[in-house]
Amino acid sequence: MKLKCPVCGKPLEPIHRSFVCENRHTFDFAKSGYINLLNSNSASHGDNKEMTKARTAFLNTDSYRFLRDFIGNLLREKQDDVFLDLGCGEGYYTRSMPGKERYGFDISKDMVNYAAKKDKETLYVVASIFDLPVFDACAGAVLTCFAPCKEEEILRVLKDDGIFVFVSPGPNHLKELKEVLYETTYENETEQRFHTLKMDQEHLIRAPFAVEHDNLMNLFMMTPYYYHTGSEGKKKLEDIASISITAEFLVRTYRKQL
Ligand SMILES: [Zn+2]
Repeated sequence: MKLKCPVCGKPLEPIHRSFVCENRHTFDFAKSGYINLLNSNSASHGDNKEMTKARTAFLNTDSYRFLRDFIGNLLREKQDDVFLDLGCGEGYYTRSMPGKERYGFDISKDMVNYAAKKDKETLYVVASIFDLPVFDACAGAVLTCFAPCKEEEILRVLKDDGIFVFVSPGPNHLKELKEVLYETTYENETEQRFHTLKMDQEHLIRAPFAVEHDNLMNLFMMTPYYYHTGSEGKKKLEDIASISITAEFLVRTYRKQL
């Protein structure tokens, strides 16, 4: 698969330690091996170093490994094809996915830097997942796991017989964590959000995991609750030595046509 120059849209070719297009727009590999194709007019954003550290520490406990294995199995039919992970973060899921060529895209330079250090088999790219630097119909398999996504962009990059896997929190994901933080808790919304893509399979998978204090705080930082919890809720969480929590994921596969 060829990447697309974010400036002029021509194909990028790897030359020494750079990607270069025919108009000589040049993008150098970072030391860790990733490439930054974010348009220079968009400022650096995404999750920062502190967040990367927390996510990495939590994910490395393998509490979500059952999800990673489950997605890997769903995508096995595309092991000889091109795989794109959109919003790949620090690459926890990306690096064990099947695929002849693997690409991870994320807007966070810190996350992508970590991912590239850890996994030399995947090309990690800093880019917007809403405006991917790839050509139409390039991918047999596309994954969006706990990240936003734009249906038009999925439809554009997916081959006609491609498969798209979309993972979101299940209704009871992290229920016990929410019960510590809030007086009243609600189930997570799981509405379907695509119009043209056809849903093929839907799986609700769950597994409890035990988490100790430090990793509980790391997990908390990964959730949207981190930004919406008052000091009282945070205090209650600080006092917990260990807790059993439910991980629940809704895993849906989509195709262009069934
Ligand atoms: Zn160019």
